[in-house]
Amino acid sequence: MIYQILTIPNKILRERSEEVTNIDRNIIKTLDNMAETMYAAPGIGLAAIQVGIKKRLVVIDCDYNQETKKNPHYFINPEIIWKSEEKRSYKEGCLSIPEYYEEVERPSKCKVRFLDKKGITKELDCEGILATCIQHEIDHLDGKLFIDYLSRLKKSSIEKKFKKSNKRKN
Ligand code: ZN
Repeated sequence: MIYQILTIPNKILRERSEEVTNIDRNIIKTLDNMAETMYAAPGIGLAAIQVGIKKRLVVIDCDYNQETKKNPHYFINPEIIWKSEEKRSYKEGCLSIPEYYEEVERPSKCKVRFLDKKGITKELDCEGILATCIQHEIDHLDGKLFIDYLSRLKKSSIEKKFKKSNKRKN
């Protein structure tokens, strides 16, 4: 099932997602639907809050393109347990802020702890685009968006633009 992706200025995107305490069939189904939604968009990462589900769930597939096989990574309750001092700037986008891209500087490497679909605790060393992507997605779980890293001027101009286009739609 493909979920509808929420876009700014929807206030749900600013809420904090809750820890998953029980990995039941419903959680597994949600993760599968999130992956389907991400590939259909298309995007390389999706947090559950972006489809209105307030749970700490993330799906990522940074390598996916038309020629490669889908290889989704599922993260339940992900947390960053280490970040490098070294930073890296990457032009980020977000399915909740369609067709807007801007350079954001983040730690170039990080280590993430999470539960997999079986409830087993795992740790993953991330670098390159995966490091950027996982930090971006974990921010979503805390109600944070990549435009929060931009200058106040840039941020308010993009927010205004989306408010206007939403009004037109309704
Ligand atoms: Zn995003």
